[in-house]
Amino acid sequence: MINLLNLDQPDLTTFFTDLGETPFRTVQLLKWIHHQGVVDFDVMTNLSKVLRQKLKELACVSPPQVVRTQASQDGTQKWLFQLDNDNCIETVFIPEDDRNTLCISSQIGCALDCRFCATAQQGFNRNLTVGEIIGQLWQVEQTLRNAGYSLDPRRRVISNVVIMGMGEPLINFKNVVKAMRLMMDDNSYGLSKRRITLSTVGIVPAIAQLKEECQVNLAVSLHAPTDELRDQLVPINKKYPLTDLMAACRAYMEGGDIRHQKITFEYVMLKDLNDSPAQARALVKLLEGCPAKVNLIPFNPFPETRYQCSAPDTIERFREILFKAGIITVTRKTRGQDIDAACGQLAGKVQNRRGVQNVC
Ligand code: SAH
Repeated sequence: MINLLNLDQPDLTTFFTDLGETPFRTVQLLKWIHHQGVVDFDVMTNLSKVLRQKLKELACVSPPQVVRTQASQDGTQKWLFQLDNDNCIETVFIPEDDRNTLCISSQIGCALDCRFCATAQQGFNRNLTVGEIIGQLWQVEQTLRNAGYSLDPRRRVISNVVIMGMGEPLINFKNVVKAMRLMMDDNSYGLSKRRITLSTVGIVPAIAQLKEECQVNLAVSLHAPTDELRDQLVPINKKYPLTDLMAACRAYMEGGDIRHQKITFEYVMLKDLNDSPAQARALVKLLEGCPAKVNLIPFNPFPETRYQCSAPDTIERFREILFKAGIITVTRKTRGQDIDAACGQLAGKVQNRRGVQNVC
C-alpha cells in the first residue's frame, strides 16, 4: 500500500502516469487530501468509480495518529503522535494575535547531542517520512478546523510553519524538502515560503543545497560566539566550525528574492556560560556582514539538566548590546512551558538506537 501523504506533486504525477491517468488527477487528489482533509477515496466523487476502486487497492491516505493533546494556560497546544514501534513525536501549535504557528518535528529523536536540549537526551531512532512530516500539519489543521477553531471556514487555521521541533531537518533533507514543497503547493496548503522557517544546527553543505532547492526562511542555532564554547555546547561545531557556518549563511542570503530578508540566529541563554557582555560583543563581530536578527531564547529546563537560565536582567543587558550595534534582537517569549512544549523540551517517546538511555 502506498501512503499518498508521502507523495509531493511530482511523485503523485508519476504515480498517476504509471496508472495511465492524466496529470490532472494530481491536482484533484492534492485538493481532496490537503484542502478538504478527505482520506476516503469513495468521497472523491470527481474521480471515476474505476479509478477510485484502483486507488483503494493500491493506496491509502494515512496520517500519523494523535495519542494525546495538552493545552497550556497561554493557549499553546502540544500534540503527541504515535508512529511505528512505540515511537512518538511531538508537535506544538502556537496561536498568536496575527498568526497561528505550527512547530513540527523532522526526526524521531535527534543524533546531534546538543548539551542543553531535551530531545538530544533521548537519542535517535530514524528520519520521519514525508507523510509523517506533512501529516503533523494535516492532522492539526483538520482537527482544529473540524472543531470550529477558525471562525472563517474558508481560512486555514495554520498560517505559519516552523520546522523547529524534534530532530535536525537538514539531516532528513530529502523528506523535509518534499514536505515543504507540499506546504507551498497551491493545491495543498499554499503557504508562501516566507511563512515557513527551517531551524538548523548548521549542517553547512546542506545549507547551500537548501538555497538551490527550497529557499525558505532560515534559522540557525548559534548559541555561542566562539568555536571553543560552541564545540562544547553544540558538538557538530567540530565538524562545521563558525567560519564555515557563517560563510554558508552569508551565501544563503546572496542574490535571489530573499535579498531583503534576514537569517534568524537562535541563542539560548545559559547562566554564566554564554551570557556575558564580552560574549555579546563577540557575537556582534561574528555576525558582521550577514543580514541577521537574533532570537535570544531563555533556557527551558528539563529533568536532570545541569544548565540554568540566565537572569532576566542579564538577558536584557545582552540584548541591549546587540541592539545598540544595530542588530534586531528579541527575547523569545516562552510558550507552553507548563506543558513542556517550549523550545528544547520536546521529548516524545524514542526507541533509541544509539545506546543512550531513554529518559521518557
Ligand atoms: N535541530 C534544529 C531544530 C530543533 S531545536 C536546531 O538545532 O535548530 C529548536 C531550537 O530550540 C534550537 O535553536 C535549539 O537550540 C533550541 N533549544 C534546544 N534546547 C533548548 C532548551 N532547553 N531551552 C531553550 N531552547 C532550546
